[in-house]
Amino acid sequence: MNQVGKRVPMNFYDPLKNILKRGAESEKYKYSLIISAVTMVHICLVAFFGVCRIYLMMFLNMGSVALYLICLLAIRQGRDMRGVFYSTYLEIIIHSFAATLCIGWRFGFPQYVIALVPFGYYMCHALLEGRRRYTIATLLGLAAFASFVSCRVLSRYVGPLYRLELPGAAELGVYIFNTFCNFSFLFMVTAIFLVEMQTATNQLQKQNAVLDAMANIDPLTGLYNRRSMHQFLESAARPGEGSSFCLVMCDIDDFKKINDTYGHDAGDYVLKEVARMAREQVGEYGHACRWGGEEMLLIIRGDMELARRIAEAIRQEVSGFTFQAREQAIRCSLTIGVALHRGGDTIDHTITHADDNLYYGKRHGKNRVVTDPELNAG
Ligand code: GH3
Ligand code: MG
Ligand code: MG
Repeated sequence: MNQVGKRVPMNFYDPLKNILKRGAESEKYKYSLIISAVTMVHICLVAFFGVCRIYLMMFLNMGSVALYLICLLAIRQGRDMRGVFYSTYLEIIIHSFAATLCIGWRFGFPQYVIALVPFGYYMCHALLEGRRRYTIATLLGLAAFASFVSCRVLSRYVGPLYRLELPGAAELGVYIFNTFCNFSFLFMVTAIFLVEMQTATNQLQKQNAVLDAMANIDPLTGLYNRRSMHQFLESAARPGEGSSFCLVMCDIDDFKKINDTYGHDAGDYVLKEVARMAREQVGEYGHACRWGGEEMLLIIRGDMELARRIAEAIRQEVSGFTFQAREQAIRCSLTIGVALHRGGDTIDHTITHADDNLYYGKRHGKNRVVTDPELNAG
């Protein structure tokens, strides 16, 4: 919450960012934004040509406004955008050509066709498919180029149809207005393109994170799966990693009986809860994975004493807990085998060692942590 009297810094980019973000999310909003901007320019030009009494251009601009209003309606109704795009493209070429023919080159009308090139590529990419979109965008770009050059040639050899004598400042004003509109259009198309690219990148990153989790995490228990545990094991056993580590193999005692007595769903619930306890007890000391069925393998970065303490804490928590599944109180226990990985041993050897200790515990009453069979034998 803001403190009273504390000034909140104003971010002038936020409203613009919101508009562009909305444009990136909604096709209708984006196209309406572009067409509305173009319509506004034509409304200004209706007024300009009306004041200058160049009625041919005034009516042409009124026609353009009508065309864009129809386009806006088509966008609202969700019609095919290709018609809107082609008519906009053609209208801009015709208008820039006609304005140059009527009042000459110096008012800056030809430059509108320059902004058509990125606009054309953007729209063709969005609306068409396959290689056709690049061919059509290039052909449209060439048409814009031809229109620009022919405007220049025409104004060199054929004078304007109307002699529009404006004061120097007004002529400059019209030129700057046209340049401003043209640049704004370029900025708008570029900004929408960039925001769309960013939105797509963010979505891809999110999807990648989900896929990553799906590839590494067991969906039932939320523990790492066997595949990702192999990666942890390989990196821990790499020569030069230095610090020692232990492997801890856990198996739920008489789990078949739990399934048979309370049902498979209750078994799943017990498994999930036991996995949660193991994960919490391991914490930052290592990683916990579902090795298979109701077996979990823990890798603990540390010596035997630390691994035994963590294993004992998990065993005690599980055996002291009452699992409530569909109003049934379930008790269960874990047998755990712990083995220290020694330099020179293979990972498989240490896993087998932890497994042997686990089965030693199974044969000797279950619900216990075995670090070394000989030591526990007594
Ligand atoms: P022990 O004390 O010797 O380990 O006896 P146990 O009954 O637990 O025997 P074992 O470990 O061989 O049996 C594991 C059982 O776990 C068999 C299988 O039906 C069950 N199980 C394996 N995966 C799942 C699972 O994802 N959900 C449920 N509910 N049961 C599973
Ligand atoms: Mg078991
Ligand atoms: Mg088992």
